[in-house]
Amino acid sequence: MSPLRIALIGFGMSGVGALHALRHRGRFTTTPDAVHPEITVFEAAPVPGGKAAPENLGAQFLDADALYPFDRILADLRLATHRVRQDYELVRLRLRNQPVIEAKVFREALVSLREALLRALQSMPFAALDAMSVPEFLDRLRQRGVVTDEGRAAMRQRMLLEDGTTRLSALAYALSLAKTPTPVRRLEVVGGLNEVAVRERAAAVAEGVAFRMEAAVKRIDVARDSVRVWSAAGTEEFDRAILCVSPEHLARIRISGKPLPLAPLARMTPARISKSNLLLHGTSVAEEHATERYALWATSRKAPRRAGALMTFFHGWEGQAPLSMWHMVKVVTGTASASRLAHFSSRTWDATPREGELPMAYVTEPAPGETIPLLRFARDLYFRGRHDSSPLAIASHALAIGANVREAALTGEWAVVALLRGLGHDVSPAMKRSLDPERELFGAPRALLARELDGAPPPPPRKPITKGDPQGPP
Ligand SMILES: Cc1cc2nc3c(=O)[nH]c(=O)nc-3n(C[C@H](O)[C@H](O)[C@H](O)COP(=O)(O)OP(=O)(O)OC[C@H]3O[C@@H](n4cnc5c(N)ncnc54)[C@H](O)[C@@H]3O)c2cc1C
Repeated sequence: MSPLRIALIGFGMSGVGALHALRHRGRFTTTPDAVHPEITVFEAAPVPGGKAAPENLGAQFLDADALYPFDRILADLRLATHRVRQDYELVRLRLRNQPVIEAKVFREALVSLREALLRALQSMPFAALDAMSVPEFLDRLRQRGVVTDEGRAAMRQRMLLEDGTTRLSALAYALSLAKTPTPVRRLEVVGGLNEVAVRERAAAVAEGVAFRMEAAVKRIDVARDSVRVWSAAGTEEFDRAILCVSPEHLARIRISGKPLPLAPLARMTPARISKSNLLLHGTSVAEEHATERYALWATSRKAPRRAGALMTFFHGWEGQAPLSMWHMVKVVTGTASASRLAHFSSRTWDATPREGELPMAYVTEPAPGETIPLLRFARDLYFRGRHDSSPLAIASHALAIGANVREAALTGEWAVVALLRGLGHDVSPAMKRSLDPERELFGAPRALLARELDGAPPPPPRKPITKGDPQGPP
């Protein structure tokens, strides 16, 4: 039987999820031996991992309560994790001209917002929720006395330091919060999250997968049953291809021929953030906290001899300039002298094109009005087989209406399931793996998505919600 030539374009966490699923395809189809993939990975950067960058300068944490597919991936690659600090709502918030907001208030505000958004998911039309920004939703909660001024300020700040922007659709935010408990229990991969990409690449190379590094794909010609890929490494022909990139990368790839409706993804605006790690001699004088300019946390690690605390700053989000190194040194050592600084590393994720690099932004999450078209496209692609006849599929964290590596890897897996289904294979093991795969990926149960997006008949009536009821939608 002739091999099936597959191109994976991009090797961030969605590329890792796709490659891992292809290598373990017996988990997703009843006919794994009927597929003989000959896989080539194209990655523009010299190193694998994308935003799960080396030196922990990108993604760092996994969510212990929503781990799949990383539970399998980590076990297969023999990588260990350890538990770390919980979410930012458990730190003290010091905002200018305001009393210090204690961690307890921060957490209570998030719990109130989460509960209100989960109720709104059930009781408000998705279209109305998508039209609203999270700050607008918060304002309504404040008017009804569900959150205090302090709580509203805390939540706005949390959005900035977690998402980099407040231009977020209330529907997308509700779906994201529905996927995880509050507070989030976090895990760190021993050696850093980038190690997942490094190990996956090594395991795949051992199985004969070809990697073209520093080979940015510039053009893709999609024919009826094949894909031609143009990269720095030349022009190559494949039977199937999966684009595993972030939205800001799409503008750099010319796609011609049989199209995929990528417009909802391509028009999204990514957020920006800077992340800086300071390794100190001795301990930090500052405890973990957040202000309007930065969030500061201590990173646990295997300490090299003679060095002390490793402190991490998130900064430079919407409305703020990144902090200078001296500013950060002063916060953690109490002086503007670098004598206690053993190592400093920093990276700004703001989509600015740099010489020889692709633009890399922080995460991309739906702004008001952007969630529904994205949900429709991702459901059609992964669960309904509407694009199975296309030899080109796509995976991206943004298609899971979220901002995490877990979502990136899961879309990679679903893109592979779509590819196998398109080739006529039985993918029932993939569809039955989880009770409700749509809920796992998007945060809302299948029936609710069908009602809101397809106009399916409504579920049985619920207890009526009266106007002004603090339990009701705003
Ligand atoms: C500072 C920071 C901190 C974060 N913290 C966390 C965290 O703690 N936990 C968490 O879960 N998430 C976190 N995230 C988010 C997480 O990193 C992303 O959601 C996830 O890594 C995105 O993976 P992706 O594969 O969809 O995209 P990317 O990581 O952007 O990967 C896309 C890859 O494709 C390559 N590529 C693009 N275009 C081309 C082309 N034309 N040809 C070839 N290759 C191409 C890129 O070089 C890149 O390697 C963080 C992100 C940042 C930036």
